[in-house]
Amino acid sequence: MRIGVDWGGTKIEAIALDDAGALLMRHRAPTPSGDYEGTLRAVAALIAFVEKGLGRQGSIGVGAPGAVSTRSGLVKNSNSTALNGKPLERDLAELLGRPIRLANDANCFALSEAVDGAAAGRRVVFGVILGTGVGGGLVVDREVVAGRNRIAGEWGHNPLPWARDDERPGAPCYCGKSGCIETFLSGAGLARDCLSRTGRRKSAEEIAEAAALGDADAEVSLAIYQDRLARGLASVINVVDPDAIVLGGGLSNIARLYAGLPELVSRYAFSDGVETPILPALHGDSSGVRGAAWLWPSV
Ligand SMILES: [Zn+2]
Repeated sequence: MRIGVDWGGTKIEAIALDDAGALLMRHRAPTPSGDYEGTLRAVAALIAFVEKGLGRQGSIGVGAPGAVSTRSGLVKNSNSTALNGKPLERDLAELLGRPIRLANDANCFALSEAVDGAAAGRRVVFGVILGTGVGGGLVVDREVVAGRNRIAGEWGHNPLPWARDDERPGAPCYCGKSGCIETFLSGAGLARDCLSRTGRRKSAEEIAEAAALGDADAEVSLAIYQDRLARGLASVINVVDPDAIVLGGGLSNIARLYAGLPELVSRYAFSDGVETPILPALHGDSSGVRGAAWLWPSV
């Protein structure tokens, strides 16, 4: 049995999967806000609850925002700031009395979709998160490729490729640079594009709804967004050339983005054509916690 834990900013969730990946149990609790020690105890309590309910122990995989620094073993780059600078993997293993596996939540998403999600059966899978932030993860043969610096897949902080004059230098990014892909393809990026062209303040969700109802301005915003997404993905394909790309996160639910996307990507990639399937996630919001469970290949 595999147990996966999703350590989020507002809630923590644990699931148990049997060896075939079927869901045995799911349980959630609110994240004690800004309280690292309290969250550790809450995670341990969730795991104890699941194991008691099912009458057996499982392997423990945890997905969390941020990455573990290879230099210090401490969490870095996390938007759950209570985690930064903390030896999460060691502390949780100590509290549970057994080893755990820890991975970035975008990597867990990619793993879940590669194992038994939209890209099941494909060898090299690139998972993309389009949401509040823009992240990604690379999976090869059902294993996360974390990378030498633990940043593999972080395409959101590359500059937008083939940038046009009106796209330079781009908006400042929280990472300290400007014009990152994330500043264009996050929900806030889509909303900012709409505001700057039309003067109308709309959320990404409202833009998608308006476009579906035939609003021409909203449709233009989505077309520009799709073109930028195509450029970002083409640069990923030029480096990794994965067997499939899976889109997750809130913006991946906009059906309009998929139609015509492969043709657009083909225009930018260094190839006479691009056959890469670009697929919506199968497990939706559950992919992070499922991927955390799959961090252990066998029990
Ligand atoms: Zn950035």
